[in-house]
Amino acid sequence: MPLRLYNTLHRQVEDFVPLQSGRVAMYTCGPTVYNFAHIGNFRTFLFEDLLRRWLEASGFEVFHIMNLTDVDDKTIRGALAAGQPLTTYTEPFARAFFEDCNWLRIRPAHEYPRATRFIAPMVALIQSLLDKGVAYRGDDGSVYFSIARFPAYGRLSQLDRRELKAGASGRVSADEYDKENAQDFVLWKASREEDEKVGAAWDAPFGRGRPGWHIECSAMALDLIGKRYGTNVLDIHAGGVDLIFPHHEDEIAQSCAHTGQEMFARYWVHGEFLNIRGAKMSKRYGNVTTPRDLREDGVDPGAIRLLVYQTHYRQKLDLTDEALVAAREGSRRLGEFDARLRKTDRRTGGPAAGWEAWGQKLESAIADALNDDLNAPKAMAALFDAVREGNRLLDEGGQPPEGLRSAWSRAIGVLDVLPEPQKIVSLSGTVIAPTPILSGKLSVRLPTPPDNPEEQDTWARGWAHERKAAKGRKDYKEADRIRDLLKAAGWEIRDNKDGSVEVRRI
Ligand SMILES: [Zn+2]
Repeated sequence: MPLRLYNTLHRQVEDFVPLQSGRVAMYTCGPTVYNFAHIGNFRTFLFEDLLRRWLEASGFEVFHIMNLTDVDDKTIRGALAAGQPLTTYTEPFARAFFEDCNWLRIRPAHEYPRATRFIAPMVALIQSLLDKGVAYRGDDGSVYFSIARFPAYGRLSQLDRRELKAGASGRVSADEYDKENAQDFVLWKASREEDEKVGAAWDAPFGRGRPGWHIECSAMALDLIGKRYGTNVLDIHAGGVDLIFPHHEDEIAQSCAHTGQEMFARYWVHGEFLNIRGAKMSKRYGNVTTPRDLREDGVDPGAIRLLVYQTHYRQKLDLTDEALVAAREGSRRLGEFDARLRKTDRRTGGPAAGWEAWGQKLESAIADALNDDLNAPKAMAALFDAVREGNRLLDEGGQPPEGLRSAWSRAIGVLDVLPEPQKIVSLSGTVIAPTPILSGKLSVRLPTPPDNPEEQDTWARGWAHERKAAKGRKDYKEADRIRDLLKAAGWEIRDNKDGSVEVRRI
């Protein structure tokens, strides 16, 4: 069975056939380096890592590009607030992103283009759109893409043409907007004083300014695949579902209007959101969690990968303490088996019955699962089946013949879910992984009390503990926020002279 992928463009699972036999040009939208990327962003990057690894394991040569958005509304706002030049402001976040990728064992892309270093191809692309008459200069000096001049607009996000006509009268200059506001979007923003202040303005034949967010990906992707493969169509374009509109819709419009091709990418693949304890991750809820938080909490990257792959990429994933504990245990079991297999590999020559079937079964189960629209949960289940069966064979005294570990190694090479090796301590044959302390941001509670009255007191007490911890680290702002949050929910908090804290219903 060949690889099949769900293509958002056609809303169906399709056989994957690249443009050039054996070669895959893959572009994945990278982070906007205005902040630390959170675990929701990394869920997308991890699903893309699996896709990349599976393509490579299947024999494809993959050319993987991931951009870094280092100039847009958010980065400029951040640089202004910090009183720093744009590049000074974004650099530490770019560095942190690479560190986090490395920690989570994400295979590095072949190219990490940064928008600020690709201004020339962006200017050329915008000039081409102006020459073709699909872009125009607005009276505010900015350049806009005219969606009325591009009949295929709305195909990816399935916008209705009738709705479009009604909304297409205006234009939008912000990088982010919603479907209801589908209208002419900005390609080049005329420079403002704020942009000049942080060094986010460049000269162009159509006026001094800076690129809009969407043009960045089109220009960088086309430039790099042109140089590498001499083509102007991507095989795979991936990202989170939140990028379908407007970002990817606009990328298609700009790119196709320029190249004259029917498609910008043959397969559009999108990963779902990640929730924290059933709630959307949001600054408002104070539950934004980064890989750095998890790392500080002693969570093993193998466990995070395992947890992410236990949910299909097109389904919402809920990150909870319980799920992390279960993932840690799962990763530990796999690591234990791996160590046992390594040990027996050195002693060959014993009875090999059963191992050949074991290897073949694992190999075909992994291939069937991942070829089926990257069904990682099924692949994980196959891995655990192999552990059960393999342990039984080892218990029976059968030694795997030399080289039979390869089926296991290949599966692990793709999923990469074993615990960190230096953290595995072997005590007389038993493998023990350390216990992570699940504290920190993951333990942050929901801002509203649970519906179940029995759980409400626990909820309030939990917040009281959080507040005490905040005061302990002299974070009085946070302590006050918690007091107000409790008050809004009907609880009063009181600090006693003896250092104890009381929380009671008002
Ligand atoms: Zn993008």
